[in-house]
Amino acid sequence: MENVIIIGSGPAGYTAALYAARADLKPLLFAGWQPGGQLMITTDVENYPGFPKGIMGPEIMELFREQAARFGTDIRDINVDKVDLTGPTFKVWVGEELHEAKSIIICTGASAKWLGLEGEVTFGGYGVSACATCDGFFFRNKKVAIVGGGDTAMEEALFLTRHASEVHVLHRRDSFRASKIMQERVLEHPKIKIHWNTAVTEIHGEMEPHKKLKSITLQDTVTSDIRQMEVDGLFIAIGHQPNSSLFTGVLDMDEAGYLITMPDSTRTKIPGVFAAGDVQDSVYRQAITAAGSGCMAAIEAERFLAGLH
Ligand code: NDP
Repeated sequence: MENVIIIGSGPAGYTAALYAARADLKPLLFAGWQPGGQLMITTDVENYPGFPKGIMGPEIMELFREQAARFGTDIRDINVDKVDLTGPTFKVWVGEELHEAKSIIICTGASAKWLGLEGEVTFGGYGVSACATCDGFFFRNKKVAIVGGGDTAMEEALFLTRHASEVHVLHRRDSFRASKIMQERVLEHPKIKIHWNTAVTEIHGEMEPHKKLKSITLQDTVTSDIRQMEVDGLFIAIGHQPNSSLFTGVLDMDEAGYLITMPDSTRTKIPGVFAAGDVQDSVYRQAITAAGSGCMAAIEAERFLAGLH
């Protein structure tokens, strides 16, 4: 019987583990097949305090992991398949293997959203991607487009300027929601062209001799005019959705699927089950806030285990 099982290994999961381990709870952390969360597919992290010169996403996550492990967290790089939170002890399955715990901290994060167009599936990995930092390298001297107007789209556009010859940002409105500093960098960049009020409605490519993206159909969201754009790469950067499907019907969620926790707390409606990081935060969604809520979850789990609430 574990004291606490932590599910997820982004900034929230590792921070929860660090605090729980230092409270001598000997946490078991299921990190997933691809540990580290969204920062693993980020380049420079410039806004995490303590790193005035910035740090690479995968590098900071390795540090998070090292620190959680240093105090005795049992970290396993495997996915959780099923949970039973009916209690009083909680059950977590990894394949057929059952683990039981007195408390659970959910830090399963969020994943990139897609537009829902057929071509995203057909040409995913063949020109269409949701991760410029993973795939940008393949577009050296090519023409690429990015969909979105948030910080992710700005970051991806700037990253792609290192490789691509032309970078087009396609945004459905006439202003960005990204932070001012990121907007300015994009707006001032000579290689980036912004297309306001522009939606991607179709994705076209060829199947022979090689599967390959060729062009996209764009629609003006004000005039409804249609035009074609030839592109070699299309990057979708339209936000994220919470990874909460394991808890459907069990924990309360908002209409977008974010887990609902009590005000100023990481407590869910089930005593002993806590949620931290992007899976329960539709507002801030920053590494630093995720780490902060991971810390809160560990402290709340410790108090719960001590019978304090
Ligand atoms: P956001 O939700 O902030 O932005 C999503 C963007 O995609 C919006 O511009 C939105 O348009 C657009 N969009 C959403 N759905 C569609 C659709 N179906 N079709 C076309 N466009 C669509 O997500 P991000 O991933 O950019 O950022 C998430 C969070 O992570 C934010 O808090 C951000 O600040 C943070 N972040 C911070 C970074 C940093 O500080 N370096 C880097 C990356 C992310 P509209 O504006 O019209 O709604």
